Amino acid sequence: MGCASALALAGRGADVVVLERAVPGAEASSAAAGILGAQVELHGRAEDAAIFLRARDGWKTWAQALREASGVDVGHKVSGVLRVAKDEPERADLAREAAWQAGQGLRASLLDAAQAREVEPAIAPDVVAALHFPDDAQVDPPALLRAMMVAIARSPRITVRAGATVQRLIVEGDRCAGVVLDEGTLRADATVLAAGSWSSLVPGVPESLPAVRPVRGQIVLLEERPPRVRSIVFGAGTYVVPRGDGRVLCGSTMEQAGYRKEVTAAGVHAILDGALACVPSLGAAQLAGTWSNFRPHVAGHGALVGASPLPGLFLATGHHRNGILLSKLTADAVADAVLG
Ligand SMILES: Cc1cc2nc3c(=O)[nH]c(=O)nc-3n(C[C@H](O)[C@H](O)[C@H](O)COP(=O)(O)OP(=O)(O)OC[C@H]3O[C@@H](n4cnc5c(N)ncnc54)[C@H](O)[C@@H]3O)c2cc1C
Repeated sequence: MGCASALALAGRGADVVVLERAVPGAEASSAAAGILGAQVELHGRAEDAAIFLRARDGWKTWAQALREASGVDVGHKVSGVLRVAKDEPERADLAREAAWQAGQGLRASLLDAAQAREVEPAIAPDVVAALHFPDDAQVDPPALLRAMMVAIARSPRITVRAGATVQRLIVEGDRCAGVVLDEGTLRADATVLAAGSWSSLVPGVPESLPAVRPVRGQIVLLEERPPRVRSIVFGAGTYVVPRGDGRVLCGSTMEQAGYRKEVTAAGVHAILDGALACVPSLGAAQLAGTWSNFRPHVAGHGALVGASPLPGLFLATGHHRNGILLSKLTADAVADAVLG
C-alpha cells in the first residue's frame, strides 16, 4: 500500500518519502498468494462487488504500466478460478452462489463434473461440480514488489528510506504534521498510514479509528515438474494457485496468533490435506518452501482508505484478504484524497 500510494502520488506531481522499518515488501505484500479473486472472494457481499470488479479489471493496465516503468513482468494472468464441490450440500452452496452472481450480472458458470474436468483436468475424481469464475486472475506478489521498487527507484520524486521505523506521528494543533523516526523527524503536508497489521500500533494514530489486527496466513509452495495444474482451484478452506511455470502456491490458514510469524505443523497439515483433496497429483510435487505473514484485518469493517479523522493523516490499511487485488485502486484513492 505504501509503495503503490507513493507511485500514484508521484505520478501526480507530489514529492514522496516511503518509510519502511525493514525493506519494502518485507511483510504481507510479498507473502500473498496474489489471487485477484474479485468474484470468488465476494461470498454474497453485494456492497463490495463494484469495487472488487473495478480493481480486478484495472489490473491489466496497471501490470502493463509497471512493466513499462520497471521492465519487470508481475505475472498478471487471467487463469480463472474453479471452486469445487465434493458432495450434494457443497454443490447446493455453489448453485446458490451461481444464482447470486448471475443476479449481480457477473460471469460465473455452474459446471457438472465432466465440464469442470474440461476446465481443469487435474481436479480430484470425487469432485461432483464446480463454480467457474473465468475472469478472476492472479499476479506474482514478489514480482509486483520488485516492479514497484524499480519504478520507485527510477522516479525522481520518490525517496525510499528502508530501515526507518516510525516511532510516532507528530500531532500539532489537531493536525498530523509528519512523523518521528529513530533518528530525527520528518515533517510533511500529508502522512499516509500504510503500516499493514502494525497500523494501530503507531502512537498518535487517532483512537477513534477501528483497530487493525493481524490474521495469520500460512502458505506452502510446491514445485510440479512438469507443470500440470492450469486453473486456480478453491476447495473447502484451501486454495491452489499454479503460476504456470511449475510453482504451485497452496494456502492458507486464517489464524488469530498475534504476531507469531510461524509455520506450524498443523497449518502445513491442513493446507496440504486440503490441496491434495482438490488436486491429488500435487502429492508427487516437490515441497519447495513455506512461509507465513499477517493480513491486516479490521473486524466488522472494510479497508481504511482515504482521509482520517486527523487532518493531515491519510489511510491505506486494513485490506485483509484482498490487499493485492485492491492495491492500485487504493493508491489512486489515496492520491485523490491527499491532492484533493
Ligand atoms: C498468506 C497470505 C495470503 C494472501 N493472499 C492474498 C491474495 O491472494 N490476494 C490478495 O489480494 N491479498 C492477499 N493477501 C492480503 C494482502 O497480502 C494484504 O492485504 C496486503 O499485502 C497488505 O498490504 P499492506 O501494505 O497494508 O501491508 P504489508 O505488506 O504488511 O506492509 C506494511 C509494511 O509496514 C511496515 N511497518 C510496520 N510498522 C512500521 C513502522 N512503525 N515504521 C516503518 N514501517 C513499518 C512493515 O515492515 C511492512 O513492510 C494475503 C495475505 C497473506 C498473509
